[in-house]
Amino acid sequence: MCNISQSKLWCCVAFLDIVYFNNINSKDSMDVFEFGKSSCGLSLTAYRREQGLKRVLLLAGVHGDEWEGVFVAKQILLESVKSDLNVDLTIVPVLNLDGFLRGTRRNVNDIDLNRNLLTLDWSSDGIDERFYAGKEANSEIENKSLISYIEEWGVEFIISLHSWKHALMNVNGDCLEEAEAAKEYNFLDIKGDIGYSTPGCLGTYGVERRIPVITYEIDRGLFSRSEMLKHVLAIKSAISTFGGK
Ligand SMILES: [Zn+2]
Repeated sequence: MCNISQSKLWCCVAFLDIVYFNNINSKDSMDVFEFGKSSCGLSLTAYRREQGLKRVLLLAGVHGDEWEGVFVAKQILLESVKSDLNVDLTIVPVLNLDGFLRGTRRNVNDIDLNRNLLTLDWSSDGIDERFYAGKEANSEIENKSLISYIEEWGVEFIISLHSWKHALMNVNGDCLEEAEAAKEYNFLDIKGDIGYSTPGCLGTYGVERRIPVITYEIDRGLFSRSEMLKHVLAIKSAISTFGGK
């Protein structure tokens, strides 16, 4: 009997979709490059349009079972190829590729990539293994690639797409204006605090380095084409607001 969960099935569909997109994208105007490697040695793909403007990173698939954000990132990628942007945009549709292919939140080393970053509050003492932060901060190859890119390319604003049972936008740093621009399309609550402790997360990493971060939580499991397009419009609005500052 086929026992593939719906989440894993969606992941496979999204992955095939990205492979397909990789091919059609090669003819268009976003650069495609290897962002880094996964823990299993798979190539992590990124897409970039560089125009000498403010540098924005759109990230998805940090948690491998949160495929909703991967779909939204892919759609923004598709639209960005063909439209003018007022920022230098890099899109990483799936950071945790091994987890994504396995349908798991954590990477293949069972580490939560969004608890593993080097922050003042990083700790490996979490009691819930779902959020295991690893034995040391920034130990994971996916995060090493992420941090190297943020530092070397000089990323100035990050939107990281996740999904959760409580859809919301968690703002860290100076990006309230961008979140409010997005809210005109997605009607999500804007929160400065997600309601529980998240040591070693990207939002805190950004705050400590003066890089504003929106951790964008899409409704978990509630997904349709109209829902996706709503988020696409919201994210594009946030990005263009940052570009226009
Ligand atoms: Zn997540």
